[in-house]
Amino acid sequence: MSQNLDWANLGFGYHETEYRYVTNYKDGKWDEGGLITDANVVLNECAGVLQYAQTVFEGLKAYYTKDGHIVCFRPDLNAERLNNSAERLIMPKLPEGRFVEAIKAVVKANKDMVPPYGTGASLYIRPYMMGTNPVIGVKPADEYQFRVFCTPVGPYFKGGAKPIRIKISDYDRAAPHGTGDIKAGLNYAMSLHAIEEAHEQGFAENMFLDPATRTKVEETGGANFIFITKDNKLVTPKSNSILPSITRRSLMYVAEHYLGMQVEHREVLFSELKDFAEAGLCGTAAVVSPVGSIHTKDGDINFPAGMEEMGPTTKKLYDTLLGIQHGEIEAPEGWVVRID
Ligand SMILES: *Cc1c(COP(=O)(O)O)cnc(C)c1O
Repeated sequence: MSQNLDWANLGFGYHETEYRYVTNYKDGKWDEGGLITDANVVLNECAGVLQYAQTVFEGLKAYYTKDGHIVCFRPDLNAERLNNSAERLIMPKLPEGRFVEAIKAVVKANKDMVPPYGTGASLYIRPYMMGTNPVIGVKPADEYQFRVFCTPVGPYFKGGAKPIRIKISDYDRAAPHGTGDIKAGLNYAMSLHAIEEAHEQGFAENMFLDPATRTKVEETGGANFIFITKDNKLVTPKSNSILPSITRRSLMYVAEHYLGMQVEHREVLFSELKDFAEAGLCGTAAVVSPVGSIHTKDGDINFPAGMEEMGPTTKKLYDTLLGIQHGEIEAPEGWVVRID
C-alpha cells in the first residue's frame, strides 16, 4: 500500500495507516501480541477506560536521517514514562524491551508512511494503554490493552516557527495533588475548555500556573516551558504537577553539554516572567515553539528577542537538537535508535 502523500502539505492530523500493534493483559500477564490491520477498537460498554478514564499514552516520531536510516528518538524514555503513568493509574507495566519492539514493528510494517528526509514531515507514533474489562464499582480494571498506531504528520511549522501569543489560563490543568505529572487523557480533558477559550480570544496556547497557589509557572496543555535569561541561562520549571517532557530534558542536556550554557531546573515564579529574554514551548510535535508574548490580567509580557522570529538562543537550541535527531550532529549514546 504505497501512497505518495504530499508530505510538505500534510497537517498534524490522523491519517489511517495499514498496521498497528496490539497486546492484551489478562490474569496478570501480557499475551504475545502482534500486528493487526483493524483500526477499530471494540470494547464492552462498561470498560474501565470508558467509565473511569483509565488510559495513558505516549507520543514519539520516526523519521529518516540524512544517511537513509529510519530512526526514533529516545524511545526508552517513552517506555519509562508510560510505565510511570500506568503505575499512577493502577495499570500494569509493559517491559521496556516490549515497548520498543512494538514501536519498531509498527514503523517497519508501515515503512511506506515514513516521510522522506528533508520534507520536515515524520511518522508520529502513538502508544497507549487502557482498561478493557467491565468495571461499574469504582476500581481499576483487571484486563488491559496496549496498542501502538502511527500516522504521518506534516511539518509542525510550515515556513518556519513564528512566535506565538499565549495567555495565562483562568483554569487549572491539573488538581493540586493530582495526576499532572502523568501523560494521560484525563489531563487533556482538563485542558480542553481552557484551550478553546484561549483560541476564541486569539491566543495560541495557555500558560497554566500551579494549581495550589497560582504563583508559579507550570506548562501548557501539552508542552513544557523553557526560558532564556538575559545572561543566557536556560531556566525551566520544576514541579510535581507537570509532565516530564523528553524534549525538555534533551534541551537541558544540549544547553549544558553542546552549548556550554548554565541550566536551572527549578520553581519559576510568575513574577519572574517579565525578566526573561526568550520563552519557548517544547514537546515532540513541534520540538520548540517560540513564545512572543504572554497575556496577563495586568497587561502583556513581551519577549523582544523573539517577537518576530525565534530568539537567538532558542534557535541555537532548536537547531542543535534537530541536528542531533537527524544525524547531522553527533548524538549522545542511545538517543537516536535505528529502526531500519
Ligand atoms: C507529551 C507532553 C509534553 C511533551 O513531552 P515530550 O516528551 O517532549 O513530547 C508536555 N506536556 C504534556 C502535558 C504532555 O502530555
